[in-house]
Amino acid sequence: MSDCIFCKIVDGKIPSAKVYEDDEILAFKDISPARPVHVLVIPKRHITSLATVTPEDAPFLGRMLTVANQIATEQGSPDGFRVIINTGRVGQQEVPHLHIHIVGGPDPVGPMLKRI
Ligand code: AMP
Ligand code: ZN
Repeated sequence: MSDCIFCKIVDGKIPSAKVYEDDEILAFKDISPARPVHVLVIPKRHITSLATVTPEDAPFLGRMLTVANQIATEQGSPDGFRVIINTGRVGQQEVPHLHIHIVGGPDPVGPMLKRI
């Protein structure tokens, strides 16, 4: 997707603070962190949202969560964290490229976040 900001990050056309990369997954720090640890985990191929995945994507989605756990620990949230996947209009998803927010840090993140 040529006009997708996260595809541009994958392609290196927009800089990012990368914290993890493999052949299918990229993770980088959120540009506007809501907590001391705030990382976005994305598929390198364009998937618009969780609402557009298919049953064939299930193993890949599971791997994204496994990577999220690894990143949270490495980035300074070893005692737990929260994952959020804003989806579509009702989920107030702003960037239409699937991404998992990892939010955490040394202290509890508080009640369910209204908006991150
Ligand atoms: P969402 O509302 O779930 O679509 O969240 C999009 C997230 O992407 C927000 O938390 C933004 O701060 C973050 N974001 C937008 N542009 C960038 C960027 N260039 N680098 C890192 N994070 C970004
Ligand atoms: Zn994209």
